[in-house]
Parts: sequence; C-alpha cells; structure tokens
Amino acid sequence: MSQHAIRVHNLYRYFGPLKAVNGVSFEIPHGSVCGFVGANGAGKTTTMRILASLDYPTLGTAEICGYNVVSHPDEVRRLIGWMPDHFGNYEHMTVVEYLDFYARALGFKGKERRQRVQEVMEFTDLVPLADRFSNKLSKGNTQRLGLGRALLQDPQVLIMDEPAAGLDPKARVELKSLIRVLANEGKTIFISSHILSELGEMCDSLLFINGGRIVHHGDAESMKRETDSGGGLLFDVQLLGNAEDLSEWCLLQAQVELIEARKHGGRVRINSADLNDAAQALQRMIKDGLRVTEFHREERNLEDAFIDMLGKLDRGEIGGSKPPPMPDRKAFNPPAPEA
Ligand code: ATP
Repeated sequence: MSQHAIRVHNLYRYFGPLKAVNGVSFEIPHGSVCGFVGANGAGKTTTMRILASLDYPTLGTAEICGYNVVSHPDEVRRLIGWMPDHFGNYEHMTVVEYLDFYARALGFKGKERRQRVQEVMEFTDLVPLADRFSNKLSKGNTQRLGLGRALLQDPQVLIMDEPAAGLDPKARVELKSLIRVLANEGKTIFISSHILSELGEMCDSLLFINGGRIVHHGDAESMKRETDSGGGLLFDVQLLGNAEDLSEWCLLQAQVELIEARKHGGRVRINSADLNDAAQALQRMIKDGLRVTEFHREERNLEDAFIDMLGKLDRGEIGGSKPPPMPDRKAFNPPAPEA
C-alpha cells in the first residue's frame, strides 16, 4: 500500500492567466481527516476536482493511494467517493431510484446492488425517505443523499467539497457525526468547509490555501500558535445598549480594538498580554458610561487564527517564499478531459 492516501506535488492549474492552483504540495496519511480551508476563490474546489480526476492539472502530480489521477483515473475513481458542493438531482426520481441508478452505473448487480443501496440508506438515515422525490428533499437530506451516493462503492478516500454549506445546526451536527463514524472505520476524509470551528473539532489536520498556494498544514493548535502575534487578549463585552457605543469608544483607545460587533456589545482585543491593561480598559469603559453587563476573556478560535493569517499574508509577514517556477507550459500538453 502506498504511504499516503493523498499526495499532491507541485500542482498547478491555470485558467488562462488565472493561477487557481499555483505550485501546491501536500500529503495526507491513510485514515486521517484533513480539513481544507481557504477564502472564496482560494483554489479548494479546483484542487479537489483534480484529485477526483474530473479536471487535469496544468502541471504537477496528484495521487490517490499511489495512483496518479491523470494516468490512472479508473483506479482513482474506484478508490474515491466524491461529494461535490453542488450536484444535480433528477426530476421524478425517488431516493431509492437515485441510489439504485448510481449503483448500476458503478457495476453493482442484482441482489448485491439492492443490498448496497439499502446499507447506504440505513447509514445516511434515508430509509424513511426512500420513496420521496430526490429533487424535493430538504438541504440536509439532499446532502445525506450526496453522501450516500459517494459511499456506494465503499471508498477508501472520501473527498467532500463544502458538505456542510447551507445546513442548519442540527443537520450539521448529524453530518459531523456521520463523518466521525466514517473516520473511525479508517477512511481518509478530505473535506473543505468555511465552518472552521467544526473543522477544528473534526479534523486531524488543517490545510490552508490562499491564492492557490498552501500557507499552513498542521493541527488546529499549531494554526492558532503560528498566527498568534503574541500578546493580544480577547474579551467578550456585553452591554446594555448597542454595539455602536462600544465601537465609538474603541476608536478612541490606544490599546483596544473592536474585532467583532454584536447586537449588544462585541469582541474586543486588548493589545497587551498584561491582565492589568484589561482591568484598566474595563475601568475606563465604566467610567466613560458604557453599561457593561459582561466582560469575560475568550480563547482565540480558528476563525481568529484564519483572519490573522490572511492579514499576515496581505502584509507579507508570512508565505513570502515564491511557488516553485512552473516549467515551460508548451512542454506539457494534456489530453482533453473526458466528457
Ligand atoms: P469557494 O470557496 O468560493 O468555492 P474555492 O476555493 O473552491 O472557492 P475555486 O473554485 O477552486 O475556489 O476557484 C479558484 C479560482 O479559479 C477562482 O478565481 C475561480 O473563479 C477560478 N476558476 C475555477 N474554475 C474555473 C474555470 N473552469 N474557468 C475559469 N476560472 C475558474
């Protein structure tokens, strides 16, 4: 067995002049859950589509369990389950018919096919909805159906593009627990999401991409450490009144910064590691007439770390190394993707 479930080396994907993926390298070991994080347009879907053998790299290597996605797409497709961010449902096709259709396409026959469809419906809790039209499901159940479809051939590697997007909190919790079960079965899961707090809990590692380049790969704690500029203390401040009062007050302070406004207060950063400075800031708030009802210290979360990282990238404080230069593109002439 190859050493890594997913291996990407010096991967490039250009769309004309646009460098969607620009010299990306990373490895994901078997049986781990890796979260893929980046702002809109960072290059997540493009990378995932290449891994799913749905697009060709302009240059570079992508492998699933040692199989190159360009030279061995059939092997790759047998090994992966792909859950795209959007997928079409067919009108007048029920849930069971939909899964059966894909099971046929994958080559399942007769009793084995019916059994596999039933197992997948049980796992994704779709049995009660078996006869419902697949294009009339709620968002949460549509995602379950997408997951069920991706699981039909019991893939070793599951690639999920934004599976939690648009789900309500209950559906997100349910999806997360399904992913946990799959991870416990030993599947490798590569999942993109904007919901960073959830990824932190669920993933063994996080891969951050920005402008087509990987800027961090490590666990959630290492991400927080790397972006912590050292010193800033975060406080949640609740007011009797609106956030604007707090916002105006912060503008006049040297050390205090409002980083998130809420309905009745907000999150502030005290730019000092000294708790005395925080105590003095609270004293000044009260002296200046802010009606503070709550003032408590908060841990930095992944969202903070992500925003800090984007700020550092913008200021050129990290990620300064250039991507490896792309060799002459004329030397590489990939065949057109299959329909
Ligand atoms: P999001 O979180 O918004 O889904 P993403 O990180 O998945 O973003 P990609 O979809 O990979 O980002 O897109 C990366 C860049 O490549 C974007 O600027 C996008 O507009 C561009 N892009 C993607 N596919 C194509 C295409 N087929 N033709 C031209 N440009 C494309």
